Amino acid sequence: MMNHYDKASGQADEFICHEEIIDTIGYAREHADDRALAEEIISKAALGKGLTHREAAVLAECRDAGLTEKIFSLARELKKRIYGNRIVMFAPLYLSDWCVNGCVYCPYHAANRHIPRKRLSMEEIRREVIALQDMGHKRLAIESGEDPKHSPISYILEAIDTIYGTHHRNGSIRRVNVNIAATTVDNYRLLKEAGIGTYILFQETYNRHDYERLHPSGPKSDYAWHTEAMDRAMQGGIDDVGLGVLFGLESWRYDLVGLLMHAEHLEAKFGVGPHTISVPRICPADDIDAGAFPDAVPDDVFCRIVAIIRLAVPYTGMIISTRESERVRAKVLELGISQISGGSRTSVGGYAEDLTDKTAQFDISDRRTLDQVVSWLIDMGHIPSFCTACYREGRTGDRFMALAKRGKIADCCQPNALMTLMEYLQDYASAPTREKGMELIARELRNIGSDRVRELTGERLAEIREGKRDFRF
Ligand code: SF4
Ligand code: SF4
Repeated sequence: MMNHYDKASGQADEFICHEEIIDTIGYAREHADDRALAEEIISKAALGKGLTHREAAVLAECRDAGLTEKIFSLARELKKRIYGNRIVMFAPLYLSDWCVNGCVYCPYHAANRHIPRKRLSMEEIRREVIALQDMGHKRLAIESGEDPKHSPISYILEAIDTIYGTHHRNGSIRRVNVNIAATTVDNYRLLKEAGIGTYILFQETYNRHDYERLHPSGPKSDYAWHTEAMDRAMQGGIDDVGLGVLFGLESWRYDLVGLLMHAEHLEAKFGVGPHTISVPRICPADDIDAGAFPDAVPDDVFCRIVAIIRLAVPYTGMIISTRESERVRAKVLELGISQISGGSRTSVGGYAEDLTDKTAQFDISDRRTLDQVVSWLIDMGHIPSFCTACYREGRTGDRFMALAKRGKIADCCQPNALMTLMEYLQDYASAPTREKGMELIARELRNIGSDRVRELTGERLAEIREGKRDFRF
């Protein structure tokens, strides 16, 4: 079969070229025991400039325990080098579970008659946002099924406006990321104008054949329309886009290589790689039996995937949700994850009201409150961060990437993490979390390299304790 791979092409079948993926997996398998090659690739990754999909595939096949440990410890080190030890917090906000698509792994699929369908009114969105603000969240990812009648773009835009316009006590949502269906360049432009942070769209699987089987009906069944969505988002002016696959739908090797090819494509065509990569795994939900997916990814492979993505695209934020258990989250936080959700509800209206799991898009494994997650992160030596500074300072797209690639973004992340954590501790934390958080801030303040930034951060921390809010670098 002809390999017509072209990473700069605008055609889905050329930048995610099936033959190139098959060749890559074959090449990696042939070199599975090639220690020298794996060592060479790990040394290249240590430079922090990334890996090609082919190099990453070789590391994915490597079974040597010593080399695996090297991969894991390098992932840890790169995360630290680029972002410091902050972990950014966010929460999903489900707006509507109406959906015209037929995705076989999602309970919102159009044919599911078990779940009540609901679209939040603006008043209900305000209530959800207040509940989220009262937990301490500053950054949301809005989620909605695809339904031109129940959630057209005008509804999404109004929702974004409502979210940014809602303020309760010291609360404010400072960054709204958007996870909605693939749409047109004009609609992406409208989202950009509405002030969104990252546009997130999961590919689910890059294998066209399997994609079409798993998406039998609705607009999402068009593989090219879905796969080329990030190109249209970029053309619409959104320069921070978030990729992801649903690991376990099909072969993880195929999807790992496809994901990295997608990142290479964005870099080649637009000069900016993905801002974030999410790593969800298939899990049970209403009308969905995870056992029906024999390719479900076990924990050890999942950890390897996370570490390899960190090595391959070191400048990209990596996100994990509450689908994963506390134990797995703890492990992958050490392997390169830089953003996690906390206190999440995955049902429409789930923050203001305590709804049953019946309406949830997926089962949550980590059911702890945000305060418990913050306390746990502090215990593990991470700095929980509520920072949203980059997008508000215009550090998006290539401006962000230039800083991240020069290893300079941590200079902003560290003081911003401390200041936003201080806000959280003052306004929302329980007494024990506040106490240990204050100790962490005192310790970590000393780790700010620049004398000027350290002094300024110290002054601002004092001002936050006196009641001032929203400082940023
Ligand atoms: Fe709809 Fe998204 Fe669920 Fe598919 S995955 S059924 S598009 S909500
Ligand atoms: Fe994220 Fe930028 Fe804040 Fe760092 S400074 S945590 S990259 S928003």
